[in-house]
Amino acid sequence: MSNFDVIKERDKKYFMNTYSPVDIAFVKGEGCYLTDSEGKTYLDFLAGIAVNALGYNHPIFTDALIEQAKKVTVVSNYFYSEPRGLIAEQLVKGTNLGKVFFGNSGAEANECSIKLARKYFYKRGENKYKIVSARQSFHGRTLATVTATGQEQYNKPFAPLPGGIGIYVPYNDEEALAKALGDKEVAALLIEPIQGEGGIMPATESYMKLARELTKKNGQLLILDEVQTGAGRTGKFWAFEHYGIEPDVVSAAKGIGGGFPISACLATDEVAEAWTPGDHGTTFGSAPLACAVGYAVCKKIREPGFMEDVTRKGEYLRARLKEIKHPKVKEVRGMGLIDGMEVEDEAFAKAIYNDMLSKGYILNVCGHKVMRFVPPLIITEEQIDEMIEELKKTVASL
Ligand SMILES: *Cc1c(COP(=O)(O)O)cnc(C)c1O
Repeated sequence: MSNFDVIKERDKKYFMNTYSPVDIAFVKGEGCYLTDSEGKTYLDFLAGIAVNALGYNHPIFTDALIEQAKKVTVVSNYFYSEPRGLIAEQLVKGTNLGKVFFGNSGAEANECSIKLARKYFYKRGENKYKIVSARQSFHGRTLATVTATGQEQYNKPFAPLPGGIGIYVPYNDEEALAKALGDKEVAALLIEPIQGEGGIMPATESYMKLARELTKKNGQLLILDEVQTGAGRTGKFWAFEHYGIEPDVVSAAKGIGGGFPISACLATDEVAEAWTPGDHGTTFGSAPLACAVGYAVCKKIREPGFMEDVTRKGEYLRARLKEIKHPKVKEVRGMGLIDGMEVEDEAFAKAIYNDMLSKGYILNVCGHKVMRFVPPLIITEEQIDEMIEELKKTVASL
C-alpha cells in the first residue's frame, strides 16, 4: 500500500461522511506550493479556501505561532489580553467600526452578528428581529447561519429552522431589496459584498449604496459578511471600502488568521453598546495564540504596498483569464485576488478542475459552474502565468 492508501483507509473509516474528498493528502506546504503524501507538488490557487493569506510556512506566521505558543495559548475571556487588543486595533483601523468580538469560525462570527443585531433592538424595546439575506448566499453551517444561507441544499434537511431568519432577496435586485426592507420587523440585512460560495458574484456599487441607504432610513442594521472578502483579499482590507459605505456590523474569519482559526464580529461603538456582560461568550474565542498569529498576519497585510500588490496581481489574473477563449467559457469577474471564471455547466467546470489537479494546479469550483481563484495573497505574476498557460491547454483540450 502507498502512503496515501494508508492515510485514506484510516481517514475514511473514522471521519464523518460530510465531504467527498479527492484522492490526495497534503503533508506539507511552502509559499504557494503544497506537497502530497507521495511527494508530488501543486501550485495552490485555493489557499485552504481563501484562508492562507501568506501562503504556507511564512516566517511571519510561523514565528508568531511558535513565540506565542511558548508563552501562553488559552486563558479564557475572564482576563485582559494584549494580543486580543492588538488584533482588534488592526481590524478596525481606518474604519467606522470600533469594537470586536472573537470566535473561531466564520459561522460563529455571523452568529455573533445576528445575535448582536437582535440584542440591539431588544435593548431599545423595538420589535425588530428579522434577518434578511440573499439568495445564493453562504453564511455558515450553524442552525442560524445555515438558515440565513439562501441555498436550500444546505438547510432543507435541518428543519425546523430558527424563525425570523431565512427571508431571502435576489442578489443585486434593488427593487426586491426595497420591498423586503419595507417590513418594519426587519432588524438587519446580512449580505456578502462579493458572494463567494455562490459563484464569485460582486455586489454592484449602486446595490451596496442602496442597501446602506435603505437600512439607515428604516432604522435597520447593515451586516456585511466579509468572511471570505476581508483581510486584504480584494485589494483593500475590507471589501466595503471599495463601495464607500459604512456598515454597522462586519463578520470576518478566513483570511484574518492566515491559516490559524480565528474569526471576528466587528461593530460600531454604538451598536456594540447593546451587549452587557453575560449576553454572549466563548471558551476558545480570542485565545492569545489565535490573536497573536492573526495580529502578525493582519499587520503584514496592512504594510504599505501589500494590498496595492494584491490589486495589481488581481487585475493581471483577470486580464489573463480573459485571454481564454472557448465557447463554454462565459465570464471572468472578481476583485483583487477573489476571482471567478464562469463556464457553461458543472460538467465542464469539473473537467477543468480534474485536469488541472492532475497537472499539479489546485483550483476549485463554486456556485456549481464557476472556477474560483483565491490564491495566497503572496502569489507572483510568474506563478499566475504558469497556471494560465496550463489552464489554456486544459480548456483547449476539452
Ligand atoms: C466560509 C464562509 C462562511 C463560513 O465560515 P466557516 O469558518 O466555515 O464557519 C461564512 N460566510 C462566508 C461568506 C464564507 O465564505
